[in-house]
Amino acid sequence: MQGEAGIPTGTELNVDLGGNCYSGLEHRIVRRGLELGFTNVGFAALRDYPEVLEEASRRPNYGIFTQGDDSLLARLARAKTLNPWADSVVCATLGYAGVDYPENLLASVARTYLSRAYTPQPGTAHAFRIEELARFLEGEGMRVDAAQFRVPQRIACAEAGIVSFGRNNFAYTRQDGSFVILVTMLVDAKLKTIGERAGDECPSGCRRCIDACPTGAIVEPYKLDLHKCILFNNQRFEPGAQEEIWDAMGERIHGCDACQAACPRNRAVLEKATAKDPFLELLSKEFDLERILALDDAYYEAVVRPVMYNYIKDRNVFRRNAAVALGNTGDARHVPALRKARQAAEEPSVLRAIDWAIAKLEREGA
Ligand code: SF4
Ligand code: SF4
Repeated sequence: MQGEAGIPTGTELNVDLGGNCYSGLEHRIVRRGLELGFTNVGFAALRDYPEVLEEASRRPNYGIFTQGDDSLLARLARAKTLNPWADSVVCATLGYAGVDYPENLLASVARTYLSRAYTPQPGTAHAFRIEELARFLEGEGMRVDAAQFRVPQRIACAEAGIVSFGRNNFAYTRQDGSFVILVTMLVDAKLKTIGERAGDECPSGCRRCIDACPTGAIVEPYKLDLHKCILFNNQRFEPGAQEEIWDAMGERIHGCDACQAACPRNRAVLEKATAKDPFLELLSKEFDLERILALDDAYYEAVVRPVMYNYIKDRNVFRRNAAVALGNTGDARHVPALRKARQAAEEPSVLRAIDWAIAKLEREGA
């Protein structure tokens, strides 16, 4: 049920706004967050999170995030130690489940990136929301700093009571399932935690996400083999870029939604996803894997960068991804474009992917 202006009513929020739970500062922050379009707002006490290193040690191929005191997870594990001035994490969620994403874009780019809500670009509506919430907190007299890459956001948001986890490792809200962006900010105020940490809300015995993963990356509930996850492979040449999973990657060049699309906790939100995003409707007509294979500056700026600005800076990574995707189309009409791109390609991984794609398409054609 939606309230006026599309803002979820209290009964839909993960945090109960009713009664006398909130008063004063916390209530004002929640109200402002909802007014700005966040779907949930809550608070967690900042602490050190040693469990992130323990958890990573149990997952295959997480070494790149844990080695050395300055590694990402080593820093997240010492969040309070490294940010002694901060007392609380302001946690908020932005949902992007409501859009009926164009099919050809969805085949290649995950919803998170199509939504442009994850680390939104300056000047966009999502960026404004985040900046405005920070400004509001500052206006309330707090020191504020972005908490992304400083705290484990999913844990903080779970402790704030605004998300629960799925066995596919994604955070879930009631309004948007797992199609949600977490926004976190460190502040120097002791804010009261209102929500309760949610437990596992997955149906007993469910393992649809595990079975749906094209590459077998979810090796058991909550355990991801990083090197098999498609997004990780989309981002880099080495480490990652496991050629043995190219066949299973389909046409995905920037992320993957398979383990979320298969999830029964997302069924209702996907059924309600009917809103059209006019920009994506336009982009869907311009999106062409052959153009990404032969990526030039103009096409990169017009079609690629607007939705795939997050991770990949090396354009050869896009060219490699497009070659793999074209090889997985089963459409031999792409062979001439692959051959032409081969003449221009110099990067060994791009050449390998082109050769792989041509061989696969010719084999299938034969
Ligand atoms: S994002 Fe895709 S590749 Fe990664 S675990 Fe989920 S289904 Fe598997
Ligand atoms: S598919 Fe099942 S086990 Fe996986 S996250 Fe969804 S509900 Fe949980």
